[in-house]
Amino acid sequence: MTRCAWCGDDVEEDDGFRAYEVEGRRVAAFCRLEHVVAWGLRSAYWDPATEGEGADSDAQVSECAQCGAPLGDVHVVLVRRRGEARIPDGFCSVDHMLAWAKRGGRWAPPA
Ligand SMILES: [Zn+2]
Ligand SMILES: [Zn+2]
Repeated sequence: MTRCAWCGDDVEEDDGFRAYEVEGRRVAAFCRLEHVVAWGLRSAYWDPATEGEGADSDAQVSECAQCGAPLGDVHVVLVRRRGEARIPDGFCSVDHMLAWAKRGGRWAPPA
């Protein structure tokens, strides 16, 4: 069973968000986007990821969704899971993932 890294609620396999730091082999799950923000500000506790976990999604991102910078070796990928869909966004740092999540993520109106 996967639990939200912030509130501890169950996160369904095909729902919620997963943050991956592929290079550091770390993962954190979230039930909703708001909890990514709360987690990043207060605790940012990661779980160890299994070998290769998140790599598929990582391969689909090349620049930071927040600032547009090309992604280096160490970066973060946030994946929205919705049924069969896996929607990845990449970030150059946890800070930029938080900034992006704070303004509503992918579906936010342009700043
Ligand atoms: Zn939660
Ligand atoms: Zn960035």
